[in-house]
Amino acid sequence: MPIRQLPDTLINQIAAGEVVERPASVVKELVENALDAGARRVEIDLEEGGIRLIRVRDDGGGIAPDELPLAVSRHATSKIASLDDLEAVATLGFRGEALPSIASVSRFMLASRRTDAEHGAALHVDGGRLGEVAPKPHPQGTTVEVRDLFYNVPARRKFLRAERTELSHIEEWLRSLALARPDVELRVSHNGRPARRYRGDGILASTDRLFETLGEEFAKHALRVEHSGAGLRLHGWIAQPVYNRASADQQYLYVNGRSVRDRNVAHAVKQAYADVLFHGRQPAYVLFLELDPRTVDVNVHPAKHEVRFRESRLVHDFVYRTLHAALAETRAGLSAESAA
Ligand code: ADP
Ligand code: MG
Repeated sequence: MPIRQLPDTLINQIAAGEVVERPASVVKELVENALDAGARRVEIDLEEGGIRLIRVRDDGGGIAPDELPLAVSRHATSKIASLDDLEAVATLGFRGEALPSIASVSRFMLASRRTDAEHGAALHVDGGRLGEVAPKPHPQGTTVEVRDLFYNVPARRKFLRAERTELSHIEEWLRSLALARPDVELRVSHNGRPARRYRGDGILASTDRLFETLGEEFAKHALRVEHSGAGLRLHGWIAQPVYNRASADQQYLYVNGRSVRDRNVAHAVKQAYADVLFHGRQPAYVLFLELDPRTVDVNVHPAKHEVRFRESRLVHDFVYRTLHAALAETRAGLSAESAA
């Protein structure tokens, strides 16, 4: 075969392989866009675990009608304009590939009205084929509808699980978001029924959200962590060792507000718990690490599940020392017990 340039739709479908794994990844991308647009309230309607429908409605800044086609174009973003911007990026998105990817593997609709505009507009995209922008009444903010995910990619559709399973992946992601953003109201409905509601009046340092998301037991045993030094800040909650888990299912880490998995930090936490936790048991925590964005690379993975620290040793030691100190009283209690 001769070498040829692939058509845009196919390029987007290939990219979708990295960004869109399942309905939960679509929910993540759409809700993150809503947050980047300054939304205070996000409504998420799902049908059949998101496979049939995902609709995300926000009250954020909106998109101008003539920019709707750009929003679904590859590598088009309003969030960065230069490498400098990328290095200090504060938004959740910046790659400009989520909407084009999602729109290339679903029946897609984007409707929006900007704060300062009189009228709203909508754009339909079917399996990557763009329609025309048409006027459409819309409250301030944006609605994105994603129907029949992977309807045109049978190989991917085959990997979708039962409705229940897909829904639980969505709920898990929403839980991690709700922990980080108690200031945003989140409403979820499934198959026409209200399924979950997180009120948007929470305060970050209160344990209400912990209680709501991770349950009474975690909240009851939560130790507040708050420590700064060497340009780093770590805050949040760790559970007292008496509250521990069989798996790593309650380990939430956020780096500059972004929910990530990081082996380096997970290891530091584990070490801090080493002498107070039974072998094989897992600690539970909700930790927010904040540091100069120029010292973390968030552009490691298309779905941004991972970050890379410039000084990973420093981060490791900071986390370890902070948590080791936070657990000191527990440790003292333990040795008093064993001495008695
Ligand atoms: P990225 O988030 O990386 O910029 P996306 O493909 O997710 O890329 O979105 C493309 C662009 O569309 C965004 O940069 C933003 O300008 C616009 N956009 C997407 N969703 C929304 C929304 N809910 N509200 C306002 N603007 C949005
Ligand atoms: Mg985005």
